[in-house]
This record gives sequence, structure tokens and C-alpha cells, in this order.
Amino acid sequence: MKKPNTKSYVEILAPNHPSCNSKGYVFEHRLVIEKHIGRYLTGVEVVHHINEIRKDNNIKNLQLCKTKKEHSRIHNGWWVDNEKWFKNCPDCNKCFEVNEINFSVRGKKCEGNFKSRCRECSRKQDKRYKDIVRHNKDYRIKNAKRTREWTKNNKEKKKQADKEYAQKNKEKIKKYKDKYRKDNIEKIRKLQRDWHRNKVLNLVIK
Ligand SMILES: [Zn+2]
Ligand SMILES: [Zn+2]
Repeated sequence: MKKPNTKSYVEILAPNHPSCNSKGYVFEHRLVIEKHIGRYLTGVEVVHHINEIRKDNNIKNLQLCKTKKEHSRIHNGWWVDNEKWFKNCPDCNKCFEVNEINFSVRGKKCEGNFKSRCRECSRKQDKRYKDIVRHNKDYRIKNAKRTREWTKNNKEKKKQADKEYAQKNKEKIKKYKDKYRKDNIEKIRKLQRDWHRNKVLNLVIK
């Protein structure tokens, strides 16, 4: 009996299968691989759908991965040939065997923790990044200096301008301030009421 499950994988009713779920169903793609290799799959083995169509359980579309990690590598665009892993560099698009010579290791040294760019592109990118950082730093320093000088020269001018603006927009500012005050008086009163009520309640409880 076939039944598509929620993730659109096909499940088959096989209550005698050693790894069936509580309702007696097994994924069809696992059954197909098991039939092909002539043994049951272990719990850590994962079956990958090569064309990524989860219902397509033709044996040609299925690939057995020894672990979850191998499976995620495949989804990250790696491929395996003769027990060796390969991937393309996203920058130069050349294909390399994945090892510590071609890809530098990122952070903690553990298997699979390789930078996505090849070593050469990685180096170029690092240099580019450092240049940008340096350029930005220079720019910030220059800019800060310019701002400081401008403020020094225009302090009086700015004060005068602010004053003029305030004079010109007296009505507007007053209106705004009044509205703000009115809005906030209500809020503060409510807070005070709540606080008093809580205090009284606390006293009563004690
Ligand atoms: Zn997959
Ligand atoms: Zn590259």
C-alpha cells in the first residue's frame, strides 16, 4: 500500500520491516536501495534523490550516502568519485579535490570544515577584504577630521541658524510640545494609578 507522506516522500506499508515506523510504514526509496544492495540499511545511512524529486524512486535516481554529513555535502554541490570528494570553487569555477591543500580549513580543525573558495581565491579575497577595511579606516579618519573642522568653523553659524529656525517655527514647535505633553500626561497618570492599586493590593495581601 502506497501513501505519500507529509514531506512528499512515498511510504510503503511493511509492518515486518525492522525499521518501519509506529504505523508500519517504510520509505519507498529506502526499500528500493535495500532491494538493490541486498541488505537492510543502517540508521545512519541516508538515501539521496539525485534529481531532488522526492517521489521519483527509480533506482537510477537514488544515491546511498554513508552518513548524514555525506548527504549534506552532496546538497552543497560536492560529489564523490572513488572515495574522494570534489567540489567547484564558486569564484574561479575550477574543480578541486577537497583537502587541506586545495581548500584552507575554517576555524576549528574538523572534517568537512573547509572554506568554500579554493585556496588561491581565498587568498585573493582576503587581500581584497583587507584593502577595503584599510580604505574604510582611512576614509573614516579623514571624514571625522573634516567634520571636526567644520563644526569648529561653523559653531556660531549653526547656533544662529537654530535660533532662527526656532523663531520661525514657534507655533509649530509649541503645538508639537503640547500634543506630546498631553499624550504623556495620560500615560503617566495611568501608570501612577496602577502603581497605587498594586501597592494597596500588596498591603491587603500582606
Ligand atoms: Zn538529498
Ligand atoms: Zn578558485
